[in-house]
Parts: sequence; structure tokens; C-alpha cells
Amino acid sequence: MPAIMLDDRQGYTRQYDPFRVTVPFEVFAAERTLRFSISYLPRPVMLSDLVPMANQLSQAIVDATSRRIEESDCRISCQKGCDACCSYMIPISPAEAYRIRNEIYKLPTVEQKTLFRSCQHTARQLIDHKLPGTVFSPTQDQEERLELLSDWYKELKLPCPFLVHHACCIYEFRPLACREYLVTSHPSKCRSESNERSKRVPISVQIAEVLAETCHILEGCESSVLLPLLPAFLQNNSQRSWALYPAETIVSAFLESLADYTQRNFAMVGGESAQ
Ligand code: SF4
Ligand code: SF4
Repeated sequence: MPAIMLDDRQGYTRQYDPFRVTVPFEVFAAERTLRFSISYLPRPVMLSDLVPMANQLSQAIVDATSRRIEESDCRISCQKGCDACCSYMIPISPAEAYRIRNEIYKLPTVEQKTLFRSCQHTARQLIDHKLPGTVFSPTQDQEERLELLSDWYKELKLPCPFLVHHACCIYEFRPLACREYLVTSHPSKCRSESNERSKRVPISVQIAEVLAETCHILEGCESSVLLPLLPAFLQNNSQRSWALYPAETIVSAFLESLADYTQRNFAMVGGESAQ
């Protein structure tokens, strides 16, 4: 049973336990209000324990968004086995880095070594390429800088270290950035050599960003790392990755980040009204 669980209906707790605490919350996404609750046992947990719940919440938001798209007679083109986007820049939060490591440690030793070696190989290629000077221009805002970085990364055509024979070998525990990237355009437009830009589906609440902010609140240091730099990140932060926090602190930080994100986004889109 996961340490922190997401219940998909307010007040409904799947696993009865007299000490389990349930906190209801709402997310306004895909033009509707989605109701959830988080339940947890009041005991020390690690940041990585938050990831299965975050993945579940992200999936619920992605599903609601997909349904909304289908209602407007459009179709999401993404499906398992489609890999043209697997050479894009994938930032992951520290919580996801710790979780992916834990999952990789469950694999046979040979596979673990192969995956970490593959990350190191991609990381070395990344380091060999200089960042474009425009990224450092003081006139760029954060969003423009991120877009420049993503375009630069895409141009490098570095396949993700976890892509093996055109399949994601960590699919069940892939990063939120991969889960929350959906398009309605043809997959051929996702190829880096395509002259046309793919048509990305806007997901109104990106749990990848909420989780990164949660980590920032709790750890007080950098909130994301590029996927191929995972082994180096883990090596430099081994103590930090095993830190224990009261479950209540982790859940409060997550809900606080979610509320901040929603408020920022709400202000940016000019205030849609919840129904
Ligand atoms: S983003 Fe493009 S390449 Fe990636 S799964 Fe979707 S359609 Fe396929
Ligand atoms: S983690 Fe998996 S889904 Fe994500 S980019 Fe890598 S291979 Fe693709």
C-alpha cells in the first residue's frame, strides 16, 4: 500500500485505517472541477513516496483533458510505442529522480548497469555541446529561455537513455514530463527534422511543475534535473535523497504548490470560472 494515496472521490478512503488522515481538494482542469482527496498515515515518509500519487493525479487530469479534446472532435495522437518525442529535453524533479532510482534498483543488476551507463553516455554527449549564447541574454524571460533550451536540445537529436529498441523501458514509472506531453498533430510532426511544429495540447495543471515546486519548498535547493544527468545527480545528492519528512509536511507542501500553481495559471489565462 503506498504511503500517500490519492482517492478519486472526496471523502472516500480505499484502505480503512483508523489513523489514516484524509484531505479533500479540488483541481480545476479541462474546464471542469475535479474532486480528489489525499490520504496518508501520520508517519515519516520520503519525497519519492509522493510520486505514485502525483502520477495518478496527473493521469486523471490528462484523461479529463483527452475526453475534452475528443468532445471537440479532435484526437490525441500519442500512444505507447510512439517515440519521436523521446529525444526532447525531459526535466525531472528530485522526487522523480529518487523514485526512478528506486525502481531501477528493482531490476536485475545487468539491466541497472546498462541503464546507468546509457545515461552517462548521453550526459557526456550533452556536455560536449555548448548552450546557445542567446539562452543567457538578459532580455529573455524564463519561458523564452526554456523554449530556446528545448529547441537546442531537440536539435541535438539525442535519444533518451531509457529508449530501447523504440520502446520506453521505464514506461510504468516514466517522468511526469513524458506523461503530460500530448499532441493532436500527426506524429511525423514531432520529429526534430520536421519543418512544422507539432500541436501541443495545453494541460491546465501540470503536475510535473507542482511536484518540482514541492521539492523546492521542502529541500530548498534546485527543483529539477535533466533526465540523462540522473546518475550524476544521485551521486551528488545521496544523503538528500533518503531524507525523511512527516507525511503531513509533504502533503501540505504539495497542496500549497498546487494552490500556488493554480492561482498563477488562473491569473495568466485571465480567470476562467470554475463550474
Ligand atoms: S508527442 Fe508525438 S511522438 Fe510523442 S507520443 Fe505523442 S504523437 Fe508520438
Ligand atoms: S523516459 Fe521513456 S517516455 Fe520519457 S523520453 Fe525517455 S523513453 Fe521516452
